[in-house]
Amino acid sequence: MTKDIRVRFAPSPTGPLHIGGLRTALFNYLFAKKNNGTFILRIEDTDQNRYVSGAEQYITDALNWCNIPYDEGPGKDGGFGPYRQSERKHLYKQYADQLIASGNAYYAFDTAEELDTHRKDHESKGKTFIYNWHNREKLTNSLSLSEEEVSSLIASGKPYVIRFKSPQDEILNLQDEIRGEIKINTNTLDDKILFKSDGMPTYHLANIVDDHLMEITHVIRGEEWLPSLALHVLLYKALGWNPPIFAHLPLILKPVGKGKLSKRDGDKMGFPVFPLEWQDPKSNDISSGYREDGYLPEAVVNMLAFLGWNPGTEQELFSLTNLVNEFDLKRVNKAGAKFDPEKTKWFQQQHFQLADTSLHVEQLQKFLVDNHISTDYNLSLIINMIKERATFSQDLWELSSFFFVSPNTFDEKAVKKAWKEDTSHLMYELTRILSDISDFDSKNVSEIVKNWIKGKEIGFGKVMMPLRIALVGSLQGPDLFEISSIIGKEQTIKRITNAIETLK
Ligand code: GLU
Repeated sequence: MTKDIRVRFAPSPTGPLHIGGLRTALFNYLFAKKNNGTFILRIEDTDQNRYVSGAEQYITDALNWCNIPYDEGPGKDGGFGPYRQSERKHLYKQYADQLIASGNAYYAFDTAEELDTHRKDHESKGKTFIYNWHNREKLTNSLSLSEEEVSSLIASGKPYVIRFKSPQDEILNLQDEIRGEIKINTNTLDDKILFKSDGMPTYHLANIVDDHLMEITHVIRGEEWLPSLALHVLLYKALGWNPPIFAHLPLILKPVGKGKLSKRDGDKMGFPVFPLEWQDPKSNDISSGYREDGYLPEAVVNMLAFLGWNPGTEQELFSLTNLVNEFDLKRVNKAGAKFDPEKTKWFQQQHFQLADTSLHVEQLQKFLVDNHISTDYNLSLIINMIKERATFSQDLWELSSFFFVSPNTFDEKAVKKAWKEDTSHLMYELTRILSDISDFDSKNVSEIVKNWIKGKEIGFGKVMMPLRIALVGSLQGPDLFEISSIIGKEQTIKRITNAIETLK
């Protein structure tokens, strides 16, 4: 029987989740759903110094906004909880002890000052200090000290850490689903700290213990964790466990040239790097978010999916369901993915057009309510007239404001172009024609007005342009007769009269 697929997204709550982290979450989600597996959220909060309040809530909110909620995690126990490492503290020490007992780890008593001296000493000789096989026997640890010395140091309360004893002279053949085989010489590894003097495990130990205990089958994470792969595989081996399958996602690069996209790039370069707006609890600084900037989650998800993955066809527009169906780790690239804010806008525009009219109606309605504008117009008629020119929800108001607020200023250029000597008189005549029409349906009004213009043997523009100025305030906007049928006869005539008064 094959094992059920279980993947986890394991962020540290040190700040808002940026789009790189969200992309990792999305790929985990897609992989899980494609394989009828379980998507887990695990909060890696062992480093209490870097804990930022509100960050965990932000992560959950961002996943929910993108419609990629976790199946298991804080508040959703699937039998593998708790899901916050700070609540699992008691679990880790035994594994550090097990590694010591089997000779795969050791106590180290070197103080921060001592290590610093070694570091500086090496630097002065143009070398790099690495705590590992070539010097560990000379440093202050349970490999260099006698058993009695070690016990008495521990008994005396001397602070210590537990370090992994990386093997000497071994070539590791590591497997990565995206990168294939990676060869590592263990002599290049340092003896990473697994357990700290404050009684907390480090990321490395807690991460692999939890992946094992939570029965994670695939570890899908960012490329920045690739250097830890060798240690993690060695830890699995040393603990006698089978490692999961690993897949390291490519870096997300800045829009201009090289370099990793950083949390600070966004507002500096004029686009959000966070899914939701974030207010820093300490500085109160606000960083912009895609949600608040008017993006649809569907667009953000589609954009993120293409940061490192492609379907192998020309198709670019995907719903979340399509992505789940098409997703394959084999189609994730190794090369860094350049972030493209213009392409993100394109995804937004496409998804905005695809969205159901009810969503646009809701967005416009919300704007009207927020701005105390009451209306009894049929908003879906209005939306259908303006939607194709909108990319963001805020565009809906800009494109339709004249329906709700009659123009009291008129575009100067338009007036100069279209409001001539005889226009006021023509417009006055038009109001009389209009007031005689009882069926104000756009087709009917259009037919009557057009026949009237034909009868006068003048160009259509002579009437239509000033009429547009009167109804809209400029020469923009959708079909005039549709506008007049929505605002109604009385309002249409009122606006024409007002334009005559103002512009005559
Ligand atoms: N806590 C790590 C992070 O913040 C998790 C890395 C991993 O997925 O192993 O990204």
